[in-house]
Amino acid sequence: MSFLVPPAEQTAATSAQSVDPKSYLLDEHNTEQYRDSVTEGVQRVIGELLDPGHQPTTGVTPDQLGPVIGGIDLDEPLPDTKSALDELERVYLRDAVYFQHPRYLAHLNCPIVIPALLGEAIGSAINSSLDTWDQSAGGTLIERRLIDWTTARIGFGPTADGIFTSGGTQSNLQGLFVAREQALQRHAAENGTGDPETDRVEQLSRLRVLTSADSHFSVVKAAKLLGMGADSVLTVPTDEHRRMRTDELHERLRSCHEAGLTTMAVVATAGTTDFGSIDPLSEIAALCERFEVWLHVDAAYGCGLLVSRESARLDGIERADSVIVDYHKSFFQPVSSSAVLVRDGSVLRHATYHADYLNPERHVAERVPNQVDKSIQTTRRFDALKLWLTLRIMGPDALGRLFDDVLDLAERTWEMLRADPRFEVVNRPELSALVFRYVPAADVDGQLCDRVNLHARDALYRSGAAMVAETVVDGNTYLKFTLLNPRTTLRDIAEVCELIVEHGNRYLTGTPEAEPERRAS
Ligand SMILES: *Cc1c(COP(=O)(O)O)cnc(C)c1O
Repeated sequence: MSFLVPPAEQTAATSAQSVDPKSYLLDEHNTEQYRDSVTEGVQRVIGELLDPGHQPTTGVTPDQLGPVIGGIDLDEPLPDTKSALDELERVYLRDAVYFQHPRYLAHLNCPIVIPALLGEAIGSAINSSLDTWDQSAGGTLIERRLIDWTTARIGFGPTADGIFTSGGTQSNLQGLFVAREQALQRHAAENGTGDPETDRVEQLSRLRVLTSADSHFSVVKAAKLLGMGADSVLTVPTDEHRRMRTDELHERLRSCHEAGLTTMAVVATAGTTDFGSIDPLSEIAALCERFEVWLHVDAAYGCGLLVSRESARLDGIERADSVIVDYHKSFFQPVSSSAVLVRDGSVLRHATYHADYLNPERHVAERVPNQVDKSIQTTRRFDALKLWLTLRIMGPDALGRLFDDVLDLAERTWEMLRADPRFEVVNRPELSALVFRYVPAADVDGQLCDRVNLHARDALYRSGAAMVAETVVDGNTYLKFTLLNPRTTLRDIAEVCELIVEHGNRYLTGTPEAEPERRAS
């Protein structure tokens, strides 16, 4: 390490003054600093992964970390990169939550593949902005190829299009934004004014979105952001497999129509966040076609099936008007990486605005490919590069095999838990999420059972040994495994289950949990 290492007696202040700030810029003058600095960072990450005590978490609490981070004087830089990384170890790296750990079983976070991480590093270094051709060049075309690749996997035709976004929440927002604009336009056309702006405000209160009780909360959030009322999202009940009931959907489509309301979209979920359930897409598509309603499919989680041997589970998705995918959930990509895809690319025009300094009108005639014309963002990360290198290095089949592995693991976990009388299992996983709870004895009342399971989850976190999620089903507390790591074994899961029982029993018998030890700073 040759740079920015001041003589030992130098104080932080004098060293900060003595270093030419231009030596921090990534340019041709500072390539060694670039390599050394990034290498040092990579070494720290490797150090954490190889630490013999490495766990998915240290069970740290906000009270423990708050003062450490709050006590740092951000106006007083450290003398060198090494010191900053030493500090970072204390404030972040040591206590971070590690998704690649086989006993991280909590939320929809996948371990990431190295080709994608390489893409992340290169993308950040070049720092293309994918709003206009003149800020990205090939990056724009790479993103477009990946959109086309994804729409082909979905089964959309040649007019399909889409755009990368920051995540499923933003993808849902844009999908529903487009659906809203289409609904307003159609209403204006059919009612003679011809101009959606004339009756926009009045119409907003008449728009409805139909979605299942288990769909993601970002659907309701999007409706609110889109200016629709709190009662604009109507819930369709689910069946015993937690899938949208199509008879109930039919009923609501009809009653909205009869009440003179406009069903702006049906949102089907291909992989619900809690259960991984896939709504019956073909039946829903048929109803949407019959009622001429926009079908938006939220495949944030289920999109992994697009590369899996089980892709047929998504049959019907090709009849959607819009689809969202989160590559950062089931394509083993780093956060963030998501896309919204539409069957008819022309609808993305609703997001088109021209700025003279950025994407002037003349660019349309000149066919300059400006992605900002299709996005609700302006400056935008080149997230597509991660998926590009993943496909070019690993290929889609290898990605699919990783996803198939977690599907298999979920099925075997279900078999194991179902055969164990200590556990109650809510769902047989369609994807890789499994909701269950520890039932200490048949006569333990519901509320006590809730507390036992909550305690087990918290104690497990505090111990650092594993992480599971919690959720509520019919008013009762359950635990959840979201399995996205092909390295997790059935044995890992069996051992975590034993820990859950142990912690649960401690709660029942009033035996205190051991206070976790903090690693020395
Ligand atoms: C996670 C999730 C979302 C939200 O995606 P983010 O990338 O977290 O914004 C939307 N829908 C479903 C079904 C999800 O599981």
